[in-house]
Amino acid sequence: MVRYLNEPDEDLPNLRVKEILKLCFRIEEVRATGARPGGLLHVVNSHLSEFRFTPMFVLVAPTQFVVQWRPAWERRTDPPKALTGEELCRVQPSTAAKSILDLMDAGMLNRVRQCMCGRWFYAQSAKKVVCSAACRFRKFKNADQDTYNKQRAEYMRGYRKNPKVKSKTRKEKASGGPE
Ligand SMILES: [Zn+2]
Repeated sequence: MVRYLNEPDEDLPNLRVKEILKLCFRIEEVRATGARPGGLLHVVNSHLSEFRFTPMFVLVAPTQFVVQWRPAWERRTDPPKALTGEELCRVQPSTAAKSILDLMDAGMLNRVRQCMCGRWFYAQSAKKVVCSAACRFRKFKNADQDTYNKQRAEYMRGYRKNPKVKSKTRKEKASGGPE
């Protein structure tokens, strides 16, 4: 599903899947506050109604099967044509939408995250907030720069408050700036 979210072309189904994800995040937020997500459910359902699923018997043991709902193949042509390899490799929007719902059902939707670089990823651990080693490095560098800037700002505030510095600045202003 994250592969689908990271696809560069944003056609209507892609935008719809992203909208569903956004709505599901929002529903989870609302649910966490104890409020009813009534209106949100209505909106997400209208997006979901655009997807088609087909029931399928799946054998899980020689004499045991379960019924699963699989995304129906979205490309319909008349007469039917064999799918190309490229088409088979593509993640279908309904597959991505179903993954979002499955993760939400399992209480794992918060593991789907967007990295600071813009890429979507699935966080294997709850703590993970970046998609790759390169982004982790960048995050640390930014954090370091942030700490440096804060420390410097604090130092400068203290420096300017110092009475000696204050009187020096006044003299400089009076004489038209430092020499
Ligand atoms: Zn990243």
